[in-house]
Amino acid sequence: MKIITKIKDLQSDLLLLKSNGKKIGFVPTMGYLHEGHEALLAQARANNDVVVLSIFVNPLQFGEGEDLDTYPRDIVHDEQVAKKHGVDYIFYPTVQEMYPDDMSVTVKVHKNTDVLCGASRPGHFDGVATVLTKLFNIVQPHNAYFGMKDAQQVAVVKGLVKDFNFPIEIIPVDIVREEDGLAKSSRNVYLLSEEREEAPHLYKSLQSAAEKIAEGERNANRLKQEIRGYIEKHTSGIVDYIEIYSYPELGELTELKGQIIIAIAVKFSRARLIDNVTVEIG
Ligand code: AMP
Repeated sequence: MKIITKIKDLQSDLLLLKSNGKKIGFVPTMGYLHEGHEALLAQARANNDVVVLSIFVNPLQFGEGEDLDTYPRDIVHDEQVAKKHGVDYIFYPTVQEMYPDDMSVTVKVHKNTDVLCGASRPGHFDGVATVLTKLFNIVQPHNAYFGMKDAQQVAVVKGLVKDFNFPIEIIPVDIVREEDGLAKSSRNVYLLSEEREEAPHLYKSLQSAAEKIAEGERNANRLKQEIRGYIEKHTSGIVDYIEIYSYPELGELTELKGQIIIAIAVKFSRARLIDNVTVEIG
């Protein structure tokens, strides 16, 4: 496994491998790897000749007052995880390497950003799209792996790849959860112990909504109110949003049909947690 910090070095290695017919799989992350990331790495390893993992806490996707400075980092642990999964390259650039002072172009996302995390984190998806445009050009992978934990990100990235004609297959990977149902996240370490005990109720509220849909409920507002009531009763978190949209279009729905997503964001004292379920309604 090679750890590379310079764009040029990674590009020259990967271009050579590609010209020898090797299939490149790419897993972009912000590090502090957990089993959610590991699921992405395992799929990449199974379906490609070369696996590239990037670890970059991207300042452009953090808003003012967000946790850029305190975002958890542990490169030693990340290296061990990467080795365990047979990663060939860790790309671990500095901010200066990715964003030199003379940069003049960034990417702006127009669709799917006025809802969910796009609404509560203005500019977030522009930062995501800008860094991914750079990373896709640097790595030029055949396949790139993204977690459904960030389902809106998957929708935005699919739009980016389509609109900018990247010849890359975007592969969504199911959410990996703790045994008690909490979606694995680097930010879970911010939770106070009592908040950690309450946090599985987020997924429980989503499961109960999915069960109601299975029993025939089709009214989105009623479901949203029930989820809110459940979260407010069982946790000390403050609801940021509870939304039900068509997926992946993220369009408003009054009556539920087709593929839908129920997505929530809840603020605890030091962590804002997101979770979602997607449901196919026949
Ligand atoms: P991050 O390091 O948080 O930017 O995440 C890097 C990638 O890992 C993104 O595509 C995430 O959606 C994915 N990911 C993070 N947590 C999970 C999880 N619990 N299950 C599946 N994928 C995840």
